[in-house]
Formats: sequence, structure tokens, C-alpha cells
Amino acid sequence: MNNLKNSLITHLECSFCGKVHDADELNTVCKKCGKVLYPRYDLEKGKECITPNSLRLRKTYNLWRFHEIMPVKQEKYRISLGEGWTPLIHLKNLGEKMGLKELYLKDEGQNPTGTFKSRGLCAAVAKGIELGVKEFSMPTAGNAGAALAAYTAHARVKSHIFAPKDTDEFIQVEMKAMGADLTLVNGLITDAGAEAKKIGIENGWFDVSTLKEPYRIEGKKTMGLELAEHFEWGLPDVIIYPTGGGTGIVGMWKAFTELEELGLIGHERPKMISVQPVGCQPIVRAFENGDEFAGTWPNATSKFGGIRVPSAIGDYLILRAIRESHGTAIAVADIHTHESMLKLAKHEGIMIAGEAAATIAALEKLNDNGFVDKTQKIVLFGTGSGLVTPSLWSSSP
Ligand SMILES: *Cc1c(COP(=O)(O)O)cnc(C)c1O
Ligand SMILES: [Zn+2]
Repeated sequence: MNNLKNSLITHLECSFCGKVHDADELNTVCKKCGKVLYPRYDLEKGKECITPNSLRLRKTYNLWRFHEIMPVKQEKYRISLGEGWTPLIHLKNLGEKMGLKELYLKDEGQNPTGTFKSRGLCAAVAKGIELGVKEFSMPTAGNAGAALAAYTAHARVKSHIFAPKDTDEFIQVEMKAMGADLTLVNGLITDAGAEAKKIGIENGWFDVSTLKEPYRIEGKKTMGLELAEHFEWGLPDVIIYPTGGGTGIVGMWKAFTELEELGLIGHERPKMISVQPVGCQPIVRAFENGDEFAGTWPNATSKFGGIRVPSAIGDYLILRAIRESHGTAIAVADIHTHESMLKLAKHEGIMIAGEAAATIAALEKLNDNGFVDKTQKIVLFGTGSGLVTPSLWSSSP
């Protein structure tokens, strides 16, 4: 059973109303309620083939390491640019300054396009192609577009990307170099999303917007699978995550449930902490108000595009993960985030993306107010490399 090459996907299930959808048809959101669809797997069977021993023998150190609980059925569609299996770096110096012994960074900046967006788009493009898609479309604040462009170029299919006019110029060059058809849109990522939807529907393109199709989340889920393996089938006590659309937080939460059902981890969960910028904090507001949904944040502002996301279709899933884990949601000022970027570079030699640095700013607050404990294992999600947006280093917000 160790060599089982197939995916154990059985169906898609609505994460809100439970309606079952066919996994062999190209689906987007729930046909009944319009909410997020989750791929489901035969985890009973998975117990036989996904074990600490079988994993130790595997030589695949990329997104497809846990191929049984990934949606792509045929091996030939499992494209890879070497995404995933990023290092967990012990931040000794920064930890010492803060009195925290076990502070870690999951360095997602080491992914192919410099951010963890590679994981989600690798999975979505691979599965889309397996189900017959030839042209993909998506709105982006930049990093997701770069990842989509990379995987569609690699797989020789087309991408149509819609981005706000103020998207970093280098990322625009990058997307076009990799063959994307790029349209600049006035406004924010939500405006780009409306445009992508309208033009995409007219042309029959498959829209891979965050959580509006069921597969990007499976790519992001692998972050949670890797964490359990890093901690030798345990999990950290705290995860701090810079939240935009929330696929990462929601994906990891799904991963933990699957790992428990596979018998690989126990029932304990890390406290999930969502970080947003002061100028765009719909999840923080909803968390504080005890709301199930987050609504839209008016006049969103932040220098850091990946977390300047005024509304998220997966809001209820993010809020559930935070609440069920006894975590919290916290907003940080851009200026504090910028200082944190410089601090990590200086003390640890790591140039991190601004969005990711927001986790350090949040940790400082949570350390000061006693929410985190000095002995806890804390993982910061370094969602991207600072090298993807050079312009942010020279100018303070
Ligand atoms: C997209 C992005 C985020 C936000 O990720 P979500 O999973 O959409 O919440 C955070 N950091 C970086 C660098 C990003 O590109
Ligand atoms: Zn539904």
C-alpha cells in the first residue's frame, strides 16, 4: 500500500450546508448556497498508506508529498516547480530579545515565486487541467497572479489576470514575462474580482479566485501537513498568520482535521491567530463583535497588498478556526509592520514580505499583553519573501 499512487478523493462537500458535489466535474462554489466547497477523501483507506514510516521513505519533497489527500488523480498532472517543504527556522535571536525560547518562522519565501501562493496555484492549475481547463482567470493583489502565471506557463495553458492599477511594477513585469494576459483595474482586489468574473464568464475561463474553487485550499493545506511532520507528529502551540482571503488559515485547519482522522496527530490544536492591517481589518472586527460573517471593510488601506482584502468568501471559516482554537484576531499598523521587516532582517538575516512581517508586529503585542506564554512553541507564517517587493524596503509607510 505504500506505493499507492492515486488520490483518495471521494467527493466535494459544502463547508456551510453540507451539500455533496461530484469531484469529477469542474465545480466552483456550492450550487445550493454559494459557499466554499471542500474536497473530501477516504481517510479510512488513508490510514493504511499515510503513516510516519511510509512518509519517511518518500522522496517527494514538494506539494505532492501527501498525494493521497490531494485532489489530483493522475500522476501525470501533478506539476511542480519545487513548491512546498519550506524550512522551519528557529528564530533564536529575535526570540531571545522577546524572551521566547521556541519561536519559529515557516519560511514560505523560499517557494518558487517567492510566496506561499505557489502552493495554492500549483494545486488549482493541476486539478483544473485534469478536469479539462485550458484558460484560467483570477483577480490578484500581485503574488497570486505571479504564481498563476508561473504554473500556467509551466503547464502550457493560458492565464488571464486582473490586478489593481497600483500593483507592484516588478510583479506586473513578472506576470507578463511568464505569458499572462494582464488587465489593470481601477480600485482594490475586490474591484479586480468583479471584472475577472464578468469577463471570465463571457469567455468561459475557469476562475481561480481565493476559495471560489475547491483546490487552492488543498495546496495551502500542505503547510499544515508539513508543520505536523516538522514537529514529529505534534503541532505548535500558536500559529500567527497574516490574513487576506484566509486560504492558509482555513487550509491548515482542514489539514489538522484530516491528520487527526488519519491517526497521525491527537485532538490538540494550536491557537490560530489572524493578523490584519489597521486599515483593513474585517476579520478582526467580526471576531471582536462575535459575528459569524465579516462583511466588507470600507475604504481599505494598507501598503501590503496581500492583506489588503476588504471581504472574504471564507470569512466564516476563518472565524470558526480562530474561535474553535481559542485563538484571536489582531490588527497592526503598517508602520509597525515596516519596522518588523527591518528588525527580522537585522537580527536573523531574513528578508521577509511585509504581509509576513505583520505577524512579528502582532506577536510583540501579544507578548506584551500576556496572550502568549514564554515557553510556548510559536510559529510565524513567513508567507512571502521581501525580495518580491523591493520597493517596500526603501520607503516607510
Ligand atoms: C496573499 C498573501 C497573504 C494572505 O493570504 P491569504 O491566504 O489569502 O489570507 C499573506 N501574505 C502574502 C505575502 C500574500 O501574498
Ligand atoms: Zn452549500
